[in-house]
Amino acid sequence: MNLDQVVLTFGRAMRERHGVRVHKICIDAGFTCPNRDGSKGIGGCTFCNNRSFSPASRRLSVQEQVTRGQAAIRHARPQDRYLAYFQAYTNTYDDVRTLEQLYRGALECDGVIGLSIGTRPDCVPEPVLNLLARLRDDGHEVWLELGLQSAFDATLDRVNRCHGFADYADAVRRAQRRGLQTCTHLILGLPGEEEFHWQASLELVLAHGTDGLKIHPLHVVRNTLLAHDLRAGRYRPVSRERYVEATAQLVHACPDNMVFHRLTGTARGDMLLGPDWCAEKWSVINDIAARVASLRAGAIQESAA
Ligand code: SF4
Repeated sequence: MNLDQVVLTFGRAMRERHGVRVHKICIDAGFTCPNRDGSKGIGGCTFCNNRSFSPASRRLSVQEQVTRGQAAIRHARPQDRYLAYFQAYTNTYDDVRTLEQLYRGALECDGVIGLSIGTRPDCVPEPVLNLLARLRDDGHEVWLELGLQSAFDATLDRVNRCHGFADYADAVRRAQRRGLQTCTHLILGLPGEEEFHWQASLELVLAHGTDGLKIHPLHVVRNTLLAHDLRAGRYRPVSRERYVEATAQLVHACPDNMVFHRLTGTARGDMLLGPDWCAEKWSVINDIAARVASLRAGAIQESAA
């Protein structure tokens, strides 16, 4: 079962909007994070080691990273287009002039039609939102990706996020006022959480409005506090079966026009400590797609009965 046939994936949404395939190219522009440099917190989130997913090309310019990213996409066709995905750390954490230079630099690269900017909900001041709105008004595809992870402040405290749900609600409201597209990141399997928390987080996110979702399991990577907890038996990763079922239920609860940027995630093989099944990206996605399809079929039968 192809996920595209079941939900509005980011890939399908972009094909329908632009008429071509659009790929995200991950960029590490050398930012840090207010939860690491002491302005919000130190040490970062207990699960965070950005080296586990960043493209290991920080010493390259943004333009060089775009070129390298394009070359690395297998089966790319000349007509394909790209979004520069500023992914590593907090990609709005600098003065707005520097941000504008970086973002515009990426947009000047051949084939790049837009930006996806990953950041913390407490790190989107008005000038940054105004900049993103101007870039959108210039005709670029612009997404603001907000790392919420959970709507429960107790959980956010427990993993040392150093922001609360109120920061997220405020950021979404201010982005929506400018008509900016938002994609909300949620993690399943945070310590102390179970299905009830995952569903309640999604309900709150839907109530505040978001255009896109990225859901992934909490994976444990080297050199993190969570890795200590895993080794000490204080943390148990979510099982594959639970993750597939819970994610399918969440997807099923979303409106049809929700754009799913991602429904699973993993880390570099040399960094990942667990769960092992994270590495089986496509089989996990296929199982989620099949389960969503069966939930939808059941709902149609029920409404017809
Ligand atoms: S906010 Fe993001 S970049 Fe900063 S420590 Fe947490 S996960 Fe890492």
